[in-house]
Amino acid sequence: MSIYVTKPYLPSFEEYEKFLKDIWETNVLTNQGKLLKKFESELSAYLRVNYFHYVTNGTIALQLALKALDIEEGEIITTPFSYVATISSILWERCKPVFVDIEPHNFTLDPQKIEEALTPRTRAIMPVHVFGYACDVEAIEKIAKKHHLKVIYDAAHAFGSFYKGRALSSYGDISTLSFHATKLFHTVEGGAIIVQDEYVSQKLDLIKRFGHREDKHFYLGINGKQSEFHAAMGLAIFPHLTEIMQLRKHVSDLYDLYLERHLERPKSQKYLEYNYAYYPVLFHNETELKRVFEALNAQNIYPRRYFYPSLTTLPYLKNKQSCPISENICSRIACLPLYPDLKDDEVKKICRIILPSLGNRNLAA
Ligand SMILES: *Cc1c(COP(=O)(O)O)cnc(C)c1O
Repeated sequence: MSIYVTKPYLPSFEEYEKFLKDIWETNVLTNQGKLLKKFESELSAYLRVNYFHYVTNGTIALQLALKALDIEEGEIITTPFSYVATISSILWERCKPVFVDIEPHNFTLDPQKIEEALTPRTRAIMPVHVFGYACDVEAIEKIAKKHHLKVIYDAAHAFGSFYKGRALSSYGDISTLSFHATKLFHTVEGGAIIVQDEYVSQKLDLIKRFGHREDKHFYLGINGKQSEFHAAMGLAIFPHLTEIMQLRKHVSDLYDLYLERHLERPKSQKYLEYNYAYYPVLFHNETELKRVFEALNAQNIYPRRYFYPSLTTLPYLKNKQSCPISENICSRIACLPLYPDLKDDEVKKICRIILPSLGNRNLAA
């Protein structure tokens, strides 16, 4: 049996079927149905937010966020250490990503480097709570206020993390989530937009469904509506969220026990209740990473290089920018397998393969 970096969580078939029955009774399959509304209200209550839009995926959520805030053809300060969707959504909306390097401890956008990247065309900052770690939300808010910029957090990894008692995915003018099957909490495909402002929320409500209400057209819209089947999966999995995070914590703690003294790890953050979305480790260098991957792959264990390469190197970017910290981290970081039913024995096996493949360390301890 192969072990991959993640494994989608499935509820029992009966739990899903229970919600499907509703669909067969009402014959409503999509278009803001009853299950979608129930899902939105359960998640808003959990996150303690007022305006929560459930949409088709985390990428369209970012694009809708840019549209809703009227950010067109401007420059967006963002991070090179993320999944490609952060950047592709900016480019797709005809904006220009301007990379600012990350800080080396939690790999989030370094606020100290934002101001030197600002130009008269800068419209927004799009940081990422990468791996579920908190960006420096206070510093970013201060800079945004000072320069009249919008803040859109790509919070695709942040669901379940709380910072200073508040959902990490509720900061900024807008935060977006992804509920893709590989994420900690999922609805097969799906995403969400969390908005602070009521007016922007009303606009989103229209533009996510073609921009019109009945025969009256208000804005240029797109189809970002989510279906009742996806909402059903969300409703079936949501009651398991606490258990999912506890089991992930258990696996992470076990990795810590075996690897902590041997591998560099992100710093723990004082005010963060972490969601255990990922288990990233840093190797000394790329050679060591490749040696470990070879040893694991030989036993059908497949960790993933999250994130590689640094997004500064994307071939379709017009001007090349360099972010040395991001490039360095990308060359030697990987995420180890982490999912609720990963067995203790499997974690031990993974660690027993990793340790002897590490170069030049004191393994006696
Ligand atoms: C997964 C992910 C996305 C995209 O989400 P989809 O739901 O797959 O479209 C965006 N940003 C980050 C950081 C992600 O990890």
